[in-house]
Amino acid sequence: MPEAFAVVNCSQLVSLAGAHRPRIGGELRNLAVVEDGAILVRGDRIEAAGRRRDLEQLITDDFEVIDAGKRVVMPGFVDAHTHPVFAGIRANEFEQRASGATYREIAARGGGIRSTVRATRNASLKDLVKAGKRYAEWFLRNGTTTIEAKSGYGLTIEDELKILRAIKQLNEATPLNYVATFLGAHDIPSEYKTRRQTYVNLIINEMLPRVAEERLAEYCDAFCEEDVFTTDETWQILSAARCHGLGLRIHADQLSLSGGARLAAELNAATADHLEHTDMAGIVALKGASVQPVLLPGSVYALGSKQYPAVREMIDAGLAVVIATDFNPGSSPTPSMPMVLSVACTQMKMTPAEAITAATINAAYSLGRGDEIGSLEKGKRADFVIHDCEDYRELAYFFGIEHASHVFVAGKLAFSQVISEARP
Ligand SMILES: [Zn+2]
Repeated sequence: MPEAFAVVNCSQLVSLAGAHRPRIGGELRNLAVVEDGAILVRGDRIEAAGRRRDLEQLITDDFEVIDAGKRVVMPGFVDAHTHPVFAGIRANEFEQRASGATYREIAARGGGIRSTVRATRNASLKDLVKAGKRYAEWFLRNGTTTIEAKSGYGLTIEDELKILRAIKQLNEATPLNYVATFLGAHDIPSEYKTRRQTYVNLIINEMLPRVAEERLAEYCDAFCEEDVFTTDETWQILSAARCHGLGLRIHADQLSLSGGARLAAELNAATADHLEHTDMAGIVALKGASVQPVLLPGSVYALGSKQYPAVREMIDAGLAVVIATDFNPGSSPTPSMPMVLSVACTQMKMTPAEAITAATINAAYSLGRGDEIGSLEKGKRADFVIHDCEDYRELAYFFGIEHASHVFVAGKLAFSQVISEARP
């Protein structure tokens, strides 16, 4: 790409310009859409975004002009909850679940997360990076330009470090941007089942200091659930993580009302994720501590459950809702944010605009990057997508297809696909 270029003839420039903070309540419905919009890029930055007729005089001879062909242009999706580094897949368990087995039954047979942990421990760093590159391409072709990426399938010091190093290499080797989260507290590994506190101590005394020292993660997460990490164990781990300067995220109230949301509030975590079973008291607590909920409807869908989180209550309570894919080989094997938009609208009854806000600017704020990405505004990094549709609502309406035709990261073309000229 040249140093400067302009994308013109955008049917809708979905800018999400607005207050410099996460969006709440009715603000989630305001995408700041500009009809017949244009965006000007110089180097890796957005130089201007707005109405074409207002920007035309700025498009000087040094700009290359790209015609968007009356298509939607919007920020790249920010996927704030993924598990993208693992070995092996679990299509066999998917078949077992389709035949009636439950997630818990499969786990009791040694399947579930433990089978991914075994495969990931056996994989080399090179193997993990190779698999991770394939998934990075999947994210990009679905219009995602930044992901939060968790470790958590190693559960030993060396294997957790190996996964975090793979995330670092993927961030350098692919156009996709990664924000690393240490999730050594994803599960109690089988060799510690009868010595839980020993494993908690291993995370606190040995894993966290190494992760912090090597600057391999910005956030620390823990799976808070009665039969995984109790609220007390989660508190110990996340308090230690905060002392190392890491931001906090929590897998909370996914399988039961275990107190994870209230703990997230108590710890002033950046996010509380999942929240399928969170009650009104938990929602009020999250609001009081400005914790952002990260909802993962793709995992509810893929597990065949009906227990979606209470998003309407959360929006009404003033929470800055985020939605994400939860991409992982067990409960949510999708990297597709458009698919998550579809499920959010059809199953949780979010409006398309609310879902898009939750998948872009609010997600960016949940990762501490609200000033850098998530909207199309002067000075932000030029991470944006041309989608092959005329109206942004089509992204959630037509489901199961890849809408993105051109994906730009930091002003560079990171993915493109040939699109049909035949459109009504
Ligand atoms: Zn997760």
